[in-house]
Amino acid sequence: MTEIRQVDASSAEEVLAVIHEAFAGRPPLDPPSTALDETVDSIGKALAEHGGLLATYAGEPVGALLFSDEGHLLGLHRVGVLERARHHGVARMLADAAAVAAAERGKAGLVLEARAELPRTIAFWQKNDYVEVDRNGSRLRMLRLLPLRLTLPTAEDTRLAGERLARVLRAGDLLILTGDLGAGKTTFTQGLGDGLGVRGPVTSPTFVIARVHPSLRGGPALVHVDAYRLGDAAELDDLDLDTDLDTAVTVVEWGSGLAEALASDRIALRFERSEDDVRTLTVTAVGGRWLDVDLRAELDATRLA
Ligand code: ADP
Ligand code: MG
Repeated sequence: MTEIRQVDASSAEEVLAVIHEAFAGRPPLDPPSTALDETVDSIGKALAEHGGLLATYAGEPVGALLFSDEGHLLGLHRVGVLERARHHGVARMLADAAAVAAAERGKAGLVLEARAELPRTIAFWQKNDYVEVDRNGSRLRMLRLLPLRLTLPTAEDTRLAGERLARVLRAGDLLILTGDLGAGKTTFTQGLGDGLGVRGPVTSPTFVIARVHPSLRGGPALVHVDAYRLGDAAELDDLDLDTDLDTAVTVVEWGSGLAEALASDRIALRFERSEDDVRTLTVTAVGGRWLDVDLRAELDATRLA
């Protein structure tokens, strides 16, 4: 029943009506939102330049947003859903459709401004994989980078992906690897070790919780953690490593849901094996650290919505 479509200036009146009604119902902000000052002309101009999205329910407009061009990112503005249409997943559908639009336009990700006074709005965007990358008074800049996918036909491709990723890594970076046993996590980490030029051998850390591989050329060490055997993130934090994680590249196998607490900026790598044995790697960079890193080019990967 709910439909989302990309719209141009010909939908300015409907988009304006949604924005006015949605923003009129919000608590007053300081400085106030200028959404209520929008006119058919201002919305029409924005839509003509960059387009937007309109959500309808049973044909009636219930949600909208405007796009802007932020270089290699797609900007979202005036994201609004009518009070009576809340809790029907409309905002979620708008967020998903915006990601599709960003991918179609060849953008690396999406960016928006949220207000600190609206914690539920911020929580919504966080749930949709946006993280705060900047704050100016009560204005938060939130970023979501689009995931990438590579196929890995052979074990050498898995190793090479690690070696390539190593080129853009520096001390303090955190990688979180997930995937079933045998999916290629350790093979990838071996490539990472090769690329970083650390002392090997990198092996499955199953019988130790963490292993430190010092650099052979004055670069960051590689800390290889098996979080599968850890109870919780606190334990991971308490790991008595000889190396400060700020001076190393840290790789956590099986770390999803555990290691996120270590650093808000991270790269999540999910290794999967389909029934017909096609192996893929999905790479999701999170946080401002990766804003200007062209992971797609480095990994020769495809961008997903
Ligand atoms: P994990 O650490 O996720 O348990 P490993 O990296 O130990 O998995 O890999 C298990 C086995 O799968 C190894 O023998 C490795 O050479 C092989 N392998 C890894 N990646 C691939 C791939 N893309 N294609 C085929 N075999 C692979
Ligand atoms: Mg392993």
